Amino acid sequence: MLAAVLQAQGEPLALRQLPDPVAGPGQLLLRVRACGVCRTDLHLRDDEIPATRLPVVLGHQIVGVDAEGRRLGVPWLGFTCGQCEFCLRGRENLCRQARFTGRDIDGGFAELAVADSRFCFALPEGLSDTQAAPLLCGGLIGYRALTLAGDGARLGLYGFGSAAHMICQVAVAQGRRVFAFTRPGDSGGQSFALEMGAQWAGDSTATAPEPLDAAIIFASDGALVPLALRALERGGTVVCAGIHMSEIPAFSYDDLWQERVIRSVANLTRRDAEEFLALAPSVPVRTEVSSYPLAQAEQALADLRAGRFQGSAVVVP
Ligand SMILES: [Zn+2]
Ligand SMILES: [Zn+2]
Repeated sequence: MLAAVLQAQGEPLALRQLPDPVAGPGQLLLRVRACGVCRTDLHLRDDEIPATRLPVVLGHQIVGVDAEGRRLGVPWLGFTCGQCEFCLRGRENLCRQARFTGRDIDGGFAELAVADSRFCFALPEGLSDTQAAPLLCGGLIGYRALTLAGDGARLGLYGFGSAAHMICQVAVAQGRRVFAFTRPGDSGGQSFALEMGAQWAGDSTATAPEPLDAAIIFASDGALVPLALRALERGGTVVCAGIHMSEIPAFSYDDLWQERVIRSVANLTRRDAEEFLALAPSVPVRTEVSSYPLAQAEQALADLRAGRFQGSAVVVP
C-alpha cells in the first residue's frame, strides 16, 4: 500500500510503498477513504511531542470500509487495557496502557489501516467521508472539552480551527453564546467564526465584551492561559484541550481566585465517541473541509502550521 510515512521527527512525511497490513485477532482491515489532519499530527511531525515508534504512519481520524462494506471511523484512542483503575472507573482516556492511533499504531495517511474493532465507530450517514473524518478527533475531543467546561451560557473558544468550528455549532445548538478568539489580525478566521454561529469574534489579545463562564483553549500557545483566565467570570473554567502547549507565563493568584479553574483534557473515551457521533446529526454539525491527496499529506501539515485553510483538512488516498 501507499502511505505517507514519518520516518524521523522534524522531517517531511515521505510517500512510501509499504507491505499491506494484516488484521490480527479482534482487528479489522480498513480501506481508508479519508483521514482527518489534526494538530497532534503536526506536533509529532515537528518534534513537539515525542514519537513512540518510527517510522510511523500518522493520522487518527480514519474513515474506512471493512471487508463487509461497513463504513467505520477510527479515532485517536486505539486500545485500552480494560483493567487499570482508570479503565474500571470510566476514565479509559487516562489508561496507562492506552495506545493511540497514528502514534503507537500506524494511522490513516495510507491506503489501508488496521484497527481494533472495539475502537471503531459507525458514522452519521448524512456526512460524506471527507466531511465525517474531522469529527473523529476535533469533534470527539472538542466535545469532551465542552462537557468539562460545564454548562455556562457564555463560552470562549481560543483558536478557531477544526475542533472549534464544530464545537461552536454544538454550543450554539445548546443555547450558549460563543465568543471566538483568533490570532491577532486573523480577520478571515474571525469572519469564519461568525459564520459558524459565534456571537462575537476578535483577537486573542482583545478584552471579551462580557465575562465568560468558560473558555476552551484549542491553540497551543501557553500565553493564552492567563488571558483566558482573566476573561472568566467568578467560578469559571479554562479548559486546555490540546496535547501540547508552549510554556504558560506566570500570572497573579488574583486571576485564579474566586474558584476559577484551569484544567486539561486528555484523549477521549469510547463513551465520548458514542455520545458525540449520536449528537452531531441532530445539531447538525457541518464541517468545512479542505481535501489533499495522500501525496500532499506534508502540504496539508504545512498549511495547518501556517493557518492557510479554515476548518479542517483531510487526506484522501
Ligand atoms: Zn487529534
Ligand atoms: Zn487501562
